[in-house]
Amino acid sequence: MSLVLFGPPGAGKGTQSDLMLGKTKMMHMSTGNLFRDAIKNKTPLGVEAQSYVDAGKLVPDSVVIGLVREFLEKNKVVDFIFDGFPRTMAQAEALENQIKEVGAQPIAKALFLEVPHNVLMERLGGRRVCKNCGAVYHAKLSPPKKEGVCDKCGGEVYQRKDDAPDAIETRLEAYEKSTAPLKEYYQKKGLFISIDGVGGSTDVFERIRPFLKN
Ligand code: AMP
Repeated sequence: MSLVLFGPPGAGKGTQSDLMLGKTKMMHMSTGNLFRDAIKNKTPLGVEAQSYVDAGKLVPDSVVIGLVREFLEKNKVVDFIFDGFPRTMAQAEALENQIKEVGAQPIAKALFLEVPHNVLMERLGGRRVCKNCGAVYHAKLSPPKKEGVCDKCGGEVYQRKDDAPDAIETRLEAYEKSTAPLKEYYQKKGLFISIDGVGGSTDVFERIRPFLKN
């Protein structure tokens, strides 16, 4: 079984994916993480994607779809959690074809994390991330014990460029325009499941857990 996890920026897709991975044998595929790694390593893909990611814009479909194809072909896995992909209708259609081509399991559920705008703004504005291990903190609600230093690995805790106010606005606009229509797309396919994404991460995960069974 493969799953799509989607929702607005700041809905908690990355956090919930991590919790899901502890409970399933599915492989995590996060296009956001792939782009951040490529940017960190200054690969040609990273160079191409950086200006989009930093500004909070969607990377063009052709680039994202090519990246996912490569990932699926390289990782001979059948069960995936797709986190942050698809984000557009063209990506959703491409994903279905690619899954067939590589023989992965079809998407059984599209879990949508529902979070109101004011909560998203608070989460995104305060979000801090470890540059080394990716651990997520919040400047006010859950800061690291020592400012700027990751509790888990001692790495540098920083604010992502795309968590700056202008970029947050751009990301929310891109979500409304391009990603929100996927709700209807998956509803029509009978795969859409809405999850209340408000509250602590373990509370939200308890709402997801029943859907992890086949
Ligand atoms: P995320 O960590 O999922 O919020 O992604 C961070 C950034 O990576 C996004 O704001 C986009 O610039 C880019 N990105 C990630 N996934 C996609 C996608 N499926 N389509 C287009 N751009 C993406």
